[in-house]
Amino acid sequence: MNIVKLLVILVLIYVAYRVVKMFRRVGADEVKPYRVDTEPPQREDLVQDPFCKTYVPKSQAYVQDIGGRPQYFCSRECCEKYLAEKK
Ligand SMILES: [Zn+2]
Repeated sequence: MNIVKLLVILVLIYVAYRVVKMFRRVGADEVKPYRVDTEPPQREDLVQDPFCKTYVPKSQAYVQDIGGRPQYFCSRECCEKYLAEKK
């Protein structure tokens, strides 16, 4: 038995079920757009300063390539302290 084929069939059945259910609910009062706003939208990635563990927006972070990888700091001072501690 091809497991992928089985999965595809199951997905198709599920989709068909959802479509039927959706059409049945059209016109009913219970139809309403449900949006779950549990999390505030994050407009920007936060990066963690490895020295003081502060989270800073990527655009405001002080970036320094360390060992070929960019490291983000809240300030230049933190970067320097981090480098000094690393040695
Ligand atoms: Zn810092």
